[in-house]
Amino acid sequence: MVECRKCKGKGTIPCEDCGGIGTVHLPARSLGEWQTYPLPQACKRCEGDGKIDCPECSGSGTT
Ligand SMILES: [Zn+2]
Ligand SMILES: [Zn+2]
Repeated sequence: MVECRKCKGKGTIPCEDCGGIGTVHLPARSLGEWQTYPLPQACKRCEGDGKIDCPECSGSGTT
């Protein structure tokens, strides 16, 4: 077993969609009009965790 190089053995990597913060800022629609400021929303990819299972080791941290 060798420590995964991509996640350095942690088994997770920062979510690419939200940059690891768990939220994304998307323009939100309200009453049919686009608001002028983006609203923070929980990232769908990592579900707000800010990290996702490492694709290299499937979250085990070793290869
Ligand atoms: Zn995310
Ligand atoms: Zn890994």
